[in-house]
Amino acid sequence: MTATIIDGKAIAARIRADLALEVAALREKTGRVPGLATVLVGENPASQAYVSSKRKACAELGIESFGHEMPASIGQADLEALVRDLNANPAVNGILVQLPLPGGLDEEAVLSTISLEKDVDGFHPINIGRLNMKGRPPLFVPCTPLGCLTLLEDAGVHISGADAVVVGRSNIVGIPMAALLRNHDATVTVCHSRTRDLPAKVRQADIVVAAIGRPEMIRGDWLKPGAVVIDVGINRIADASKKSGSRLVGDVAFEEAREVAGAITPVPGGVGPMTIAMLLQNTVTSFKRAHGL
Ligand code: NDP
Repeated sequence: MTATIIDGKAIAARIRADLALEVAALREKTGRVPGLATVLVGENPASQAYVSSKRKACAELGIESFGHEMPASIGQADLEALVRDLNANPAVNGILVQLPLPGGLDEEAVLSTISLEKDVDGFHPINIGRLNMKGRPPLFVPCTPLGCLTLLEDAGVHISGADAVVVGRSNIVGIPMAALLRNHDATVTVCHSRTRDLPAKVRQADIVVAAIGRPEMIRGDWLKPGAVVIDVGINRIADASKKSGSRLVGDVAFEEAREVAGAITPVPGGVGPMTIAMLLQNTVTSFKRAHGL
């Protein structure tokens, strides 16, 4: 069997094009556009790159972005005061505090300060708590897991009743992903670094979500034939054949897995482009709620 490739790049581009049309229609109707505030603390180059690509994506869609760059020396009280100002600003529909925060700052306290209605990253403890409860939908779902779910739905995968294995239990990917799949009636097993006989667990799954951060760890012969594989991992490995000397791979050994799986996301071009698309979608949803639309 050769797996269908789930083309996250194309699906994300379609979602962004639809959102651009929706933003134009909202501007026509309300005279305003959605606004996203980004808060970047310190000078972590990866965080700077993420925030800059999020703001660029906003500009492409006609969403206004408000960038706040603060020194790593900012105090907890000042950072929370900035978030409260953004909560009160009606032009801001979404607030994104780029994680991780520099050491010494209390991440949970900062995330808790974000207004629930503007928590477009879905990391507010109440939104996370609601995601993990039955029948209590959160106002926002974290962007990467929501992107994975959207890819599964777009590929026509039957989630209800499926056996799903999520490898990884981080707060930003694994835990919310498991909750989301469970809320869509999958039977979910969450695996992590202490899991015994991981290949045997993965082999039982109709749906595998890999969010580990270990290059090509999940092998083709770990998969049940026909399984759907969502590879969240982004790992840079050395490759002398590339001009840059390196290339990106996922947490799944793609070439092996595509011979066994029914469908699979590539890296790059799978989950990655969906994360920003979902952030934009959450921001537009927030704007519509704020305007009673
Ligand atoms: P974390 O490091 O926070 O979590 C990794 C998880 O993998 C942990 O739960 C850990 O277990 C588990 N793990 C580590 N080693 C093993 C192992 N040998 N066997 C089984 N489980 C293991 O990573 P993130 O969740 O933040 O990210 C995971 C990957 O996804 C990374 O490659 C990251 O770059 C990528 N990513 C991609 C995004 C995208 O937009 N596509 C967005 C976010 C992340 P334990 O809890 O026991 O330590």
